[in-house]
Amino acid sequence: MLKLLLASQNQGKLREMQFILQGLPIQIISPAELDIQLDVEETGKTYAENAALKAKAFAKISGLIALGDDSGLEVDALDGAPGLYSARYAPIPNADDGDRRNFLLKNLAAHPRPWTARFRATIAIALPDGKIHFTDGICEGEIIPDERGSGGFGYDPIFYLPEKSCTMAELAEDEKNRLSHRAKALEKAKDFLIKSASK
Ligand code: IMP
Repeated sequence: MLKLLLASQNQGKLREMQFILQGLPIQIISPAELDIQLDVEETGKTYAENAALKAKAFAKISGLIALGDDSGLEVDALDGAPGLYSARYAPIPNADDGDRRNFLLKNLAAHPRPWTARFRATIAIALPDGKIHFTDGICEGEIIPDERGSGGFGYDPIFYLPEKSCTMAELAEDEKNRLSHRAKALEKAKDFLIKSASK
């Protein structure tokens, strides 16, 4: 069984990764389970750089294989914002996901609909010997002005999937975990993880 440390304290991501990797010879461990308190500054200029910064730091401190995920929402009418800054988007201290959704909708209000957008995720898997393996995934949709659904996290209640006629927050958990950007990136990483597990 491969012990894989998730380089994130985000409970939503942890839950999704555990769901997607269930049935494989891989045990996902959260930093909290190992009493690791590490806050990696996301100073990279791309998702891949940030994912690698997180994965490397957690692999180094634990001696385990670590998986870093960096993701964001890109809205066309806002020239790709919030993008890399999706987790920090909202000019108020201690902002939560709801504040970030409201701030996004406020910034979009003057723009004509549809507000086309996509989620993007890059996964970096860092081995203790310093090697890194990258994969990525995209999920296309559009932002809608009213929240719908209570599943998922972050921008899910306002991220509408035209081909499913519902928001990401209205999808059943297993469905989000088949079609999300993170699911697609992790799906591509499975072979690499299985090979690493058998070493
Ligand atoms: P980071 O990858 O930790 O930098 O955070 C990315 C941010 O993008 C999250 O905090 C969310 O606000 C947003 N985000 C990433 N993936 C998702 C998703 O699957 N649903 C909703 N929001 C997401």
